[in-house]
Amino acid sequence: MKSQDVRKQFLDFFESKGHTIVPSAPIVLKDDPTLMFNNSGMAQFKEFFLGNGTPKSPRIADTQKCLRVSGKHNDLEEVGIDTYHHTMFEMLGNWSFGDYFKKEAINWAWELLTEVYKIPKENLYVSVFEGSKEDNVPFDQEAWDIWKTLIDEDRIILGNKKDNFWEMGDQGPCGPCSEIHVDLRTPEEKALVSGKSLVNNDHPQVVEIWNNVFMEFNRKADGSLEKLPAQHVDTGMGFERLCMALQGKTSNYDTDVFMPLIREIETITGADYTVKASNEAEEKVNIAIRVIADHVRAVAFAIADGQLPSNTGAGYVIRRILRRAIRYGFTFLGTKEPFIYKLVETLSEQMGDSFPEIRTQKALCSNVIREEENSFLRTLDQGLILLDAVILNNQGDTIDGKKAFELYDTYGFPIDLTALILSEKGLKLDEAGFQEQLQLQKERSRAASKVTAGDWNVIIEDDIQEFIGYDRLSHQVKITKYRRV
Ligand code: ATP
Ligand code: MG
Ligand code: MG
Ligand code: MG
Repeated sequence: MKSQDVRKQFLDFFESKGHTIVPSAPIVLKDDPTLMFNNSGMAQFKEFFLGNGTPKSPRIADTQKCLRVSGKHNDLEEVGIDTYHHTMFEMLGNWSFGDYFKKEAINWAWELLTEVYKIPKENLYVSVFEGSKEDNVPFDQEAWDIWKTLIDEDRIILGNKKDNFWEMGDQGPCGPCSEIHVDLRTPEEKALVSGKSLVNNDHPQVVEIWNNVFMEFNRKADGSLEKLPAQHVDTGMGFERLCMALQGKTSNYDTDVFMPLIREIETITGADYTVKASNEAEEKVNIAIRVIADHVRAVAFAIADGQLPSNTGAGYVIRRILRRAIRYGFTFLGTKEPFIYKLVETLSEQMGDSFPEIRTQKALCSNVIREEENSFLRTLDQGLILLDAVILNNQGDTIDGKKAFELYDTYGFPIDLTALILSEKGLKLDEAGFQEQLQLQKERSRAASKVTAGDWNVIIEDDIQEFIGYDRLSHQVKITKYRRV
């Protein structure tokens, strides 16, 4: 089944159950101080759950463009390394705002998966919230009893608060979830280990596909729970994972959502994508190809929705994602010229029907990406020459953290790339020394900002934002905004 049909069948199914189909909200959020990017289907409906305003229909369904690269949900480190977490992905969702509840939601989810999509029942597991005394939340008996009518009890798993309880914050709407997991292993693999033990265990072929959240309670300031006056359903299913299951693949990247991009990367770079890598070198190439195929989507969709790469806030996150892709290409595919921008054409052909913004903004996306590639590739080239000089003049097997910091700070050369190159040459990086320099530099810039504050009025001092730094470093920075006086 083609991915376009998978998406359409989801929406048609929920339309037939009385849902109004709405467009995806933009991936970039401009008016929510708690969230940089849309990271789930429910974000655009948050206010309704808080009791502010009413939706245009009590039953809504859609596919939402999501980006999980900052804040509570940050999957960036996994992307490309594993085969089922993306930076940008589509979340298919259906909602009930004070209308239907667990019985309908669970029965429809089951009907869609097993009768419409025809996923064999023996490939599915479901989970139910086990309850938590400590948090004063009961076991979800109701969901258990509904699932029992549909699936063998042996396939129902009890889940803890981390996976099976959702809350908006310390206070406010919350409730148990039921997740659905699919086991895509071969019969031989299944005979060896029970799928049940692999659920929520990072197994690439036993993956969570759908989360059904039942907003049932309100948590009060004193921590106690009360029943919400109206109960809601909020579900989210990973579109690319569903396509993997329905197309008989073992990786999201092998579906028709990603293969056109992968083929194009192969054509441009001459690299080979192997469905099952047989050695480390092949796997490195695979990872690089997956990273690029994934990241171009995140970056292009963010630009199409108005977020250009920049040096601050959300723009900085987008720049970092693109630079991660450039770096993987540079290091593992040997690409020394801009090429990621060329993939926007393929992306727009493939996604333009469902998301017209990617078609109308195609030229902007590819121009911006090309410019970013140009400037970062220059940085990489220059950095490599400098790093070679450092290595040549080094005594012993450890490179001074101060030298690495200079490359990073003055020339913008990524520290994890330095570490990677050093490790490939059997050398070590003095990480503590690097961190020390980083800390000193932060203090210097803090002091410097105080000096210039004479000319500038501080309007927001404590706006702490999280941003992703280089791959393995995640910093908290203090953003200080000034207004000229
Ligand atoms: P996981 O445990 O696999 O990280 P999750 O529990 O964080 O997923 P939810 O917040 O429950 O995910 O989101 C609903 C659905 O969205 C998941 O069941 C999954 O199918 C999909 N999903 C979540 N994160 C990603 C991602 N980074 N890339 C692709 N699909 C995702
Ligand atoms: Mg997750
Ligand atoms: Mg999960
Ligand atoms: Mg989940």
